[in-house]
Amino acid sequence: MLFSKLFIPILKNNPSEAVIKSHQLMLRTGMIKQSSAGIYSWLPLGFKVMKKIEQIVREEQDRIGAQEILMPTIQSSEIWKESGRYEDYGEEMLRIKDRQNREMLYGPTNEELITDIFRTSVKSYKSLPQLLYHIQWKFRDELRPRFGIMRCREFYMKDAYSFDLSDEEANFSYNKFFLSYLRTFQRLELSAIPMAADTGPIGGNLSHEFVILAETGESKIYSDKRIFDVNSNKTKLEKNSLNELREQYEKFYAVTDEKFNKSEFEKNVPEQYRLHTKGIEVGHIFYFGDKYSKPMNASVDFQGKKEFVKMGSYGVGVSRLVGAIIEAKYDEKNEIMNWPISVSPYECAIIPLINKNDNSNLEKAHNIYKYLNEKEVDAIIDDADENFSSKIKKFNLIGIPFQIMIGKKSEGNLLEFNEIGKKTQNLPIEDIAKIIINKKKIN
Ligand code: ATP
Ligand code: MG
Repeated sequence: MLFSKLFIPILKNNPSEAVIKSHQLMLRTGMIKQSSAGIYSWLPLGFKVMKKIEQIVREEQDRIGAQEILMPTIQSSEIWKESGRYEDYGEEMLRIKDRQNREMLYGPTNEELITDIFRTSVKSYKSLPQLLYHIQWKFRDELRPRFGIMRCREFYMKDAYSFDLSDEEANFSYNKFFLSYLRTFQRLELSAIPMAADTGPIGGNLSHEFVILAETGESKIYSDKRIFDVNSNKTKLEKNSLNELREQYEKFYAVTDEKFNKSEFEKNVPEQYRLHTKGIEVGHIFYFGDKYSKPMNASVDFQGKKEFVKMGSYGVGVSRLVGAIIEAKYDEKNEIMNWPISVSPYECAIIPLINKNDNSNLEKAHNIYKYLNEKEVDAIIDDADENFSSKIKKFNLIGIPFQIMIGKKSEGNLLEFNEIGKKTQNLPIEDIAKIIINKKKIN
């Protein structure tokens, strides 16, 4: 793929309307374009990153046995009247009338719709548990959309829902998602901390927000620093192991500001471990029992009795994560977007020095591209007629983690090879491919 043929409208300078780094950089590198307040188009570079994040989120949902479905963005108001949330949800809900004058809405979340799907199809406790998820656009008419895609009105979310017979079984489902979120954020190289949280309009009494630390975040957090050392690597997908994992986290004080209590914080956390800072909420999980199943009559037969199913819901802000990763990883000093290789828009940039009278560098670049392509490395050739340093600056800014330069210093079969943030080396293509492939494996 040739860079000159791609639709990547890069701007020379940071756009003045953006106040936080991720918003500035996403506009500057042509990842997104605003179409109206809080509503964005995703251009090729941004869309590519988001799709890679989406795929990681999907794999980690599948890994705990959740099944993917797709619900529509437009919902009927009827089910929301049944649950009692149609009035309660307020002005964040975008309400629409169709030509028959029926009240419709653009879904801000899907508890009602999934409960309706469940109740018409599942009658026996033997079909439980059910874990279902979808990845779909949501709309919330936020009072103050800001920070680009971090707080916008139309955003892309993974939302999952669990259905169980008892509180105990539901707790098991909750814990599966708890683990799956830790694994997801780990693969994105983010250190996301589960924090006891308020349940807001979703309801219920058990809830964790997954928050990554960032000065530009909108959530205030209070925690014990030791929570960062908890490790989930050995956790198995079974009840005891998952309970232990949650206990290990819950041993440490970690809350968002709605739950904050100064004297509790000071009593529970020795001074040297106290952390009070800001963070970005990237995921949120809830357990709310029969809050929806009861009013909407979603039940199963169990030992001759009708039992309302116990439900939880689990959200990840897929589109918000694009900005959150930038906020967490951007190297301000060197102007480098440090994408984890698992989500970088391309894995390797091949940068030939273009010489008008001699095609050999470009030809070499094509051969290297072919070789890397066979090894499933996602590469790009920069055929622009610019000098090396501005080309490298461009790929640092976009954040392509590996770069191969083909110019005077690339002699024989040795190529000038650069891994962002490391020293340049001269290596044959076979070794370069190995380094890249290894890095992908570790991830
Ligand atoms: P927030 O507190 O940031 O407003 P929320 O608690 O209302 O979010 P949830 O209902 O928990 O959001 O939604 C699940 C996830 O969807 C959030 O953790 C967040 O990552 C993402 N999200 C929510 N609102 C927005 C938004 N306006 N723009 C982008 N992402 C969002
Ligand atoms: Mg939330």
